[in-house]
Amino acid sequence: MFDVSILTNHKPTRDFFIAVDSDGCAFDTMEIKHKECFIPNIVNHWELQAVSKYARAASEFVNLYSRWRGVNRFPALTMAFDLLSDWDKVVERGVKMPAVPNLRRWIATESKLGNPALEAYCDTHDEPDMHLALKWSKAVNASVADIVRGVPPFPHVRESLEKGREVADILVCSATPGEALLREWAEHGVDVYPFAIAGQELGKKSEHIAMSAGGRYDPSHMLMIGDAEGDLKAAKANDALFFPINPGNEEDSWKRFYEEGMGKFVAGTYAGAYEASLIAEFKTYLPEVPPWKK
Ligand SMILES: [Mg+2]
Repeated sequence: MFDVSILTNHKPTRDFFIAVDSDGCAFDTMEIKHKECFIPNIVNHWELQAVSKYARAASEFVNLYSRWRGVNRFPALTMAFDLLSDWDKVVERGVKMPAVPNLRRWIATESKLGNPALEAYCDTHDEPDMHLALKWSKAVNASVADIVRGVPPFPHVRESLEKGREVADILVCSATPGEALLREWAEHGVDVYPFAIAGQELGKKSEHIAMSAGGRYDPSHMLMIGDAEGDLKAAKANDALFFPINPGNEEDSWKRFYEEGMGKFVAGTYAGAYEASLIAEFKTYLPEVPPWKK
């Protein structure tokens, strides 16, 4: 199931290719996953009880309300630690962030930042920060499986996929674990639209696109739909076009895609001024400086 051959063996059946991110893009699952699943497990596993309020704010900023929105869970974790180390309120309380040297090195060198790779690493290395990272990451997945359900796709997602598949091969392209993706897409019956559902075990989003579409479609016929800067980068790394789903304004974005964006994409009038205006607007939703630093 979690094998890159589902991507590398893909043969085009349409002239166009659309990659769709899942969390916070097709589904309104970012809020519940981060606020109810990730953050309580960060506070608990990394012993941040004494600064829980700040740990929550830092994690929400990184994962939901900044240009880092949607980044993989492991770099997001160390980024939250770094923001906390640098936050005067945390320093005043004398709370030190966990030292995670091996985790930082692994993040810098491993391209498949998911539990399978981390588990394989832990099998052969006796490094406490890595074992704790794995324990935390598994606990997050258990919380997601326990808590996240009944969150349907945003309005106009199903309609867009339905209309899109007439002209395009559709790929789900996500940094979420594959098992959670399959569960969510099947729960709402939208798993019938994509030819593959690619999660973090199959590499980065840019790699998903390269493996399944690279050299097989005209770049002007390739589009990524996403809600984070990482999605934009994944698109541009493959010379693909990008359609943004604006965080907090997702319904309007999907309506715009359904009524306007998809038509322009297929007509060949998407690239240039139209795409640039959408991206400029999108960037105003994703600040670089945390609110407590202003
Ligand atoms: Mg997303």
